[in-house]
Amino acid sequence: MQEPNLKNIEKHLIELVRERNLFTTPDQLASAGEYIRHQLQSANLSVREETVPFEGKQSINILGLKKGSDSSSGVFVLAAHYDTVEGSPGADDNASAVSALLETARCLQNSQFKTSLLFAGFTLEEYGFVGSRHFLEQGENGMNNFCGMISLEMVGFCNPQAGSQNYPPYIDSTQYPDTGDFIAVVGNEPSATLAQSIAEVMDQSVPPLSVEKLVVPGRGDQFREVTLSDHFPFWENNIPAVMVTDTAFLRNPNYHQPSDTLDTLDIEFIGNVTKGICKFLETYLR
Ligand SMILES: [Zn+2]
Repeated sequence: MQEPNLKNIEKHLIELVRERNLFTTPDQLASAGEYIRHQLQSANLSVREETVPFEGKQSINILGLKKGSDSSSGVFVLAAHYDTVEGSPGADDNASAVSALLETARCLQNSQFKTSLLFAGFTLEEYGFVGSRHFLEQGENGMNNFCGMISLEMVGFCNPQAGSQNYPPYIDSTQYPDTGDFIAVVGNEPSATLAQSIAEVMDQSVPPLSVEKLVVPGRGDQFREVTLSDHFPFWENNIPAVMVTDTAFLRNPNYHQPSDTLDTLDIEFIGNVTKGICKFLETYLR
C-alpha cells in the first residue's frame, strides 16, 4: 500500500466542505457526488452510480468496486455518507470520512485482495440512512454476499483537553478516556469479532492513534447513539458491520451546526485513521 498523504486529504476537504443537502443545496450535493465518482475512477475502481429516489427528488450512491481474486469470499463494504443536514457545511460530518474513503482507495489501488472491496459514497444518510437502505434493497448488490462493512462516520475532530469526551448513560465511562482524542470502533454482538480485528490492527499499526472499542449487546437497536450511521441498516440485515467514528456529538460541539467547518478539523488525525483502515483492509481481505 501507499502511505496516506495529508495534502490529498486536505484537497478532498477543500472540494467537499460546503452544505450538501438535497432540498436546500442540491447542486452542491450533486457536485460532491461527481467529485467522489471522479476520485474513485482515478483509483482504478470500476465505478457505478445507483439512483436513490426520495420525496419526489433523487440523489445517487457512488459505488467503486475493487474485484478480489476469489468471488466465493464475498464483498466487503467500506462506506461514508456524503450528504449534510440543512445549514451545515459538514466538515466533520461527513467530509472528513469521505476524504478518508477516497484516500484509502488511492493508497490501496495497487494492492491485490482475495475478497472484493466495494467503496461506497452513500447519499441521504441524514434522512434516516436512505441511501444505504436503498443499496441493501437492490437485488443486484448481491445482498447475501456481504462479508462485512465499515461505516466511516465523522473521523476528523479531536479535543486534547481533559473532560472533553462525553458518553451515553448506558456506557460505563470509567472504562474509557475522558479526553476526546481517540478513534472509536463500534460494533454489536454479531460484529464483535470484526470490531476486535479492526481495533487491534488500527491500534498496533498506527502508534500515534489511540483506539477505543465498544461492542453493544444484541443487535444494538436500543442504544440510539451507536445506531446513527449507515452501518445500522447492515445490522438490521444481520451483516457484520462496524462504525469507525470520533463519536460525533459526544465530543464535537459543531455537530449539525453552521460551525462544522474545515478549520475545526485535525487533518493528521484523519491521516492516521486512514492509515489504520488501509492496514486493516490489507490484513483482512488478503
Ligand atoms: Zn453523519
